[in-house]
Amino acid sequence: MTTLDDSAREALALLESKLLKRTLATSERTDGVSVMRSGRTYVSFSCNDYFGLSHHPDVIAAGVAALQQYGAGAGASRLVTGNHPLYEALEDMLARMKGTEAACVFGSGYLANLGVIPVLAGSGDLILADRLSHACMLDGARMSGATMMRFAHNNPEHLALLLREHRKEYQRCIILTETVFSMDGDRAPLGAFAALAKGYNAWLMTDDAHGLGIAEPEAHAEVQMGTLSKGAGSYGGYVCASREVVELVRTSARTLMFSTALPPASVASATAALNIIASDKALTSRPLQLAQRFTQFLGLDEAQSPIVPLILEEPERALAASRALEEAGYLAHAIRPPTVPPGTARLRFTFSALHTEAQVDGAADVLKANGYA
Ligand SMILES: *Cc1c(COP(=O)(O)O)cnc(C)c1O
Repeated sequence: MTTLDDSAREALALLESKLLKRTLATSERTDGVSVMRSGRTYVSFSCNDYFGLSHHPDVIAAGVAALQQYGAGAGASRLVTGNHPLYEALEDMLARMKGTEAACVFGSGYLANLGVIPVLAGSGDLILADRLSHACMLDGARMSGATMMRFAHNNPEHLALLLREHRKEYQRCIILTETVFSMDGDRAPLGAFAALAKGYNAWLMTDDAHGLGIAEPEAHAEVQMGTLSKGAGSYGGYVCASREVVELVRTSARTLMFSTALPPASVASATAALNIIASDKALTSRPLQLAQRFTQFLGLDEAQSPIVPLILEEPERALAASRALEEAGYLAHAIRPPTVPPGTARLRFTFSALHTEAQVDGAADVLKANGYA
């Protein structure tokens, strides 16, 4: 007889043998870029808090005021009694920033994708997703019951081929892509995708988790989702679209219906952060400038976003490079399969407006000195 614990032990041993077991390290983020672990302070290149807004005084003050006025938790789902007055300002702000008629805020980006995609497509429909799309888009597509096919990464020719061959066999068709890819930092050719969507009577949906405030997309998708947990420094997810689409999402997305509304403080902080993102161009342009400084210094392809991968192929090498940086006081997380395809284990660097040039150059020096770049 195999006990549950035996079974778990076996699964863990297998992961460990492939260097794919993950661990949680207690990390105390003391400002936008510093992380304290086991008593030592590191400069982190592994936070998605691109503008350091999680620790911005206005963002914190908005959260504290909401906490005091409305309490710690929302008490119910939004459709019951959890829809506190702070949601309206946040959704208005999101719709304005994205240039859509309406927006709907979810508990997280993950929940937004799991909720929205099954509202837009189902059995008998076709979903075409970029091969490197985030796990939660793929999970949402699977949950929808639609047929899913994946097109080669950022490749409009392959997307066109799939549309030509398969579009007519299905009723509705949705094209899914990220705007800025979370693990590669490159940007999708949205203009070409939008034109294909139009030509084949399909709808384009984008995941802008890493693009908010960073990159003005070259074309706007009908459905734009994203997160408030990265550049906005708070927590939550959203979808922006036409009034009708948002109304349908509000009334039928299961992850909105059956999950508690966000804590009021998260909503108020997100709104305060978006106000800063919308108005402070010096702040929002800096992460990309620093990323480009880093890629230039190391002779890598020029950064297209604040995310820069250093591909080291095997998990072993990525872990060793991560350790070398850690010894020198820098955190850059090793990303391994299944987060990225086998053979593409990497260090993933994210740059924040709060990094100094000296910190960026310091991390690059360590990589050079150890033969990783
Ligand atoms: C982080 C991320 C999400 C999930 O957002 P959360 O708010 O963290 O749940 C969705 N899509 C992409 C591309 C992401 O990087």
